[in-house]
Order: sequence, then C-alpha cells, then structure tokens
Amino acid sequence: MILRKKNDIRVVLYHGIGRNDNAVMRNLKDEICPMLFEHHIDFLNKNYIIKNISQVHEIIKNQEYEKLKKPLCVITFDDGLNSVYDVVEKYLFKRKIPASIYLNSCVIDNLNMLWHHKLSYLITKLGISNVITYISYYSGCIISKYKIKTFSDLFVFLVNNFSFPRINSIITYISKEQAINFHKIAKSLGLYLNSSQIAELQNYGIDFGNHTRSHYVINRVFNENTKTDELKKCVLYNKIRDNNTLAIPFGVKNYYNDEDVKIILSMGYSYVVEVGTGLNLVSDIQRKKLISRTSVHQAGNSVLSLFYHMEIKPLIKRIVYRIKKN
Ligand SMILES: [Zn+2]
Repeated sequence: MILRKKNDIRVVLYHGIGRNDNAVMRNLKDEICPMLFEHHIDFLNKNYIIKNISQVHEIIKNQEYEKLKKPLCVITFDDGLNSVYDVVEKYLFKRKIPASIYLNSCVIDNLNMLWHHKLSYLITKLGISNVITYISYYSGCIISKYKIKTFSDLFVFLVNNFSFPRINSIITYISKEQAINFHKIAKSLGLYLNSSQIAELQNYGIDFGNHTRSHYVINRVFNENTKTDELKKCVLYNKIRDNNTLAIPFGVKNYYNDEDVKIILSMGYSYVVEVGTGLNLVSDIQRKKLISRTSVHQAGNSVLSLFYHMEIKPLIKRIVYRIKKN
C-alpha cells in the first residue's frame, strides 16, 4: 500500500549488510542482517520502480515519471563497505535491481579507515573509559563531567567540541600510543570495497556517488582548503559510472548547513543527498537540488517498520514542519 504521492521519490539509505559483530560495527549498528535485507528488497520491488540515481536523474530530466505505474525508489548504500559487494549479486542482480553506492575515496582498497570507524574500533578494543582518558590527556579537557557512556555520546562530544581534522589528530595520537595500525585492520577485516570490486559492480547496475574523502562532519571543517579537498571527486570517479551527486556524511541538518549545499553545487554536482524527511517531490528536487533519504537503520527489524518509515513518517514530519512554520 502506498500513501505518498507518485511524484514523490523514495530514497532509502543502507550502510553494510551483516550482524554488527566485528570490532568496528559493534558500536555503530550500521549493518542490517541479510534475511531482513532480502525482505526489504522484496517489499521495495513489489511496491516501487527501483532505479539508481543516474536513472532517476534522466527520468526527471525527460519528465517521464508521470508515465510510470508506480512511484520511483532508489536504494543507496553509504561508506563503500565491502559487505555490500556480496549482496548486490545475491539479492539485487538476480532481481535486476539497480542501486547507488556512495564512496569515501580515502578508504577505497582498505588504505585507511574512516574516523568514526576508528573511534568505534578503539572503544571496542580499549573500552570507552580508556579512550576518554586518552582524549582528556591529549586535549587538556576534563571529559569526565560530560557523562559519556556510549559511542554516540562520545561522537556528539567530539563533534561539538573539536573541529576536523583535530578530531583526526586525537584518534591518530591514541592509535600511535597503542601501536594500532588502521590500514592493517581495515585490510584484515576487508572493511571497504576495492577498485576492482567497484569496477565489477558497474556491471550489476550500480552507479557511484561521492560521500567525501574522509567522512568528516562538513560543518566542523573550517579550513576552506580542507573542505574543498573533502568535497572534490577522486580520480577513480573518471573510470566508474559516476552519478554526479554528493551524499553529505551523517546527512542530518545538524552536520551541514545551507552554505555547504551551495559550495557542493558550485563544484558541479547535480544534487546534494541528505538524510532528512525522506520527502522528494520532483518539483522540490528540481528547485532545491537536494535529495532526502529514509534511513533504514531507524526502521527497526521488520518490513512493517520499513513501510512506516517510508510511507507514514515522512508525511507526519511534513505536517509537524508546517505546524511549526505557522
Ligand atoms: Zn556515511
């Protein structure tokens, strides 16, 4: 059953597929189990016409969406995680379903690890209180008064109190003290996609967008050159099916501002992709050049919950927004 308008494009956001059982994912809970993922795919395939971002761009440009029998839906995966590679062939290609993957160029081929993945790994290995002790020592800031108990608490504390790449330097300091080599760990866990997998995935109907270089929180990067470096495309993008969009790291309004959207669009991207209401009326997309996604990580553990997050919650959010506005 579909409640939203047909000219309102549904875009869902996944990260990895798995059981959140490795040292990185344990604190993040960024993975959905394969069986639930398959149920999601069957639900989406039944109720929507699934296209990747490049195909949707063409459909909007040629005004073809009105002729479609069902609403459009895009499946996206952020952070270029290797766990997506297997499921694309198993669950998507088999059903001829395309998708879009957003890559962070610094971790392709497991050359590095994203900063929040490093933080999660450090918490798993050292325990959160030891990580806090290190941060206090390095920054001279008394952190104990903030009552930090979880990865999320520490994430918010760091983002609210330090800029990038200062957060990066704190993490580097701890890893040096503990002789932790993130490159080796990323490689041994096989955390991210490599170049040949990326090239191969194009044959399965996948297109690729930019998720920035290092996944810094964009509005916590104050140096103009660092910000430009974070947002520009990597060389690899010349060789892959590039959908010419940029998905903002963490995607929610707290972590980017209108000026960031302007900067991204001025760099030549067609659209900026966020995590917001999940509403995407075609007229709004054309006007704002902003695509809003539904995060499935909020969607609990059932297809019914996915339906609620895709078809009901966005409408409630719009009503609340209108009431607040008036
Ligand atoms: Zn991300």
